Amino acid sequence: MKEIDTTHCATGIPGLYIHIPFCRKICPFCSFAVLKDNPARHPTYLNLLHEEYNLLSRQFQLDLTPCESIYLGGGTPSRLSTFELEQLVDWLFSIIKISKKIQWSIEVNPEDISPKYASDLKALGFTRISLGIQSFQQTDLEKLKRVHSGAQSRFALESVIDAGFEDYSLDFMFGFPGQTKEQLEKDIELALSYHPSHISVYSLSIEPKTALNRKPVWKDWIRENENLISDLYRLIVERLTAANFVHYEVSNFCIDGYQSRQNMIYWNRRNYLGLGLGAHSFVSPYRWGNMKRWIDYKSSLTLKSLPHISFEALSETMHRDEEVMLSLRLNQGLDLALFKKKYLLDFPDSWSKKVEAYFQHNLLVEKGNILQLTTKGLLIADEITASLCACLP
Ligand code: SF4
Repeated sequence: MKEIDTTHCATGIPGLYIHIPFCRKICPFCSFAVLKDNPARHPTYLNLLHEEYNLLSRQFQLDLTPCESIYLGGGTPSRLSTFELEQLVDWLFSIIKISKKIQWSIEVNPEDISPKYASDLKALGFTRISLGIQSFQQTDLEKLKRVHSGAQSRFALESVIDAGFEDYSLDFMFGFPGQTKEQLEKDIELALSYHPSHISVYSLSIEPKTALNRKPVWKDWIRENENLISDLYRLIVERLTAANFVHYEVSNFCIDGYQSRQNMIYWNRRNYLGLGLGAHSFVSPYRWGNMKRWIDYKSSLTLKSLPHISFEALSETMHRDEEVMLSLRLNQGLDLALFKKKYLLDFPDSWSKKVEAYFQHNLLVEKGNILQLTTKGLLIADEITASLCACLP
């Protein structure tokens, strides 16, 4: 990798992401950097994280003092024992000044959570739990090849609540073969009965290099059931907003004030540092991604070389296009006046025919200076933002 001049790099980093790649079983739809869990690898991995941070801090002047959010994601961070998490937390305390105001999140899977583990997480200082429920329905869980049951999800939730957490998020999936409106409705009602502060709902997408990608039946089902999938999404949005959840991003809903700070840092294009297998970082103007294979990541760090698979300085055009894309995913939308001022450019007087069609079909709306996607439009956010960016000079 060629040496990069980082002397002009903005160094205040409000977000730290740590990727824990271990999973009990690899789900057929998963495209993240994951490894079948082997506890013997945990200590090595934790040491590699230290090594990565040490190498980075030699290349960048990393300033994590304004840190607002630390996020342990995966994979499945709850595959780490309490003892291993304690070691990780101790190390974080040694590199960052951690204030009480920080949002400190951890993703957990229901099968790993006992009352003891939940109260250990609380004692370690985590402030927010993100629980991968996906569905409470046994038939759905079997279809998605998840290892936990609906009963385990309920037990995990009760453990998290009893441990004293107020900020807990539930992750669900929708739009897969066999799922019905009635099942989804039941899931939403059950989720709401636990009074979560946050709910994320992801539509199943079939990504390349996943086991599901080799099953044409799933792809065909998704293609043939576009209308049902939009209906399911609309149902989710209607039911959660009626229950006072703010629909603040395409897939994310929260009680006001309980947004995921980590996600808001990503979507508002603020600096964040990602450590671990396949993790991504953005420290303006640079963006980089890590190797996704254990052997590559480990070998690189063992040779004292940063495990980057990509590294680029963002051009003005890339910044601008990302801002369009990320702002439109958020309920705040894109402020055209601010955008024009910031990038010293203008959207054209008339939109392309494609963009005009989005307005006509009520996928995109303009309210004063703010451009926003409608619920229908959010389902094809990437397509619409690509068409808008194509209109820019
Ligand atoms: S548990 Fe989550 S991260 Fe692990 S394989 Fe399944 S979907 Fe991927």
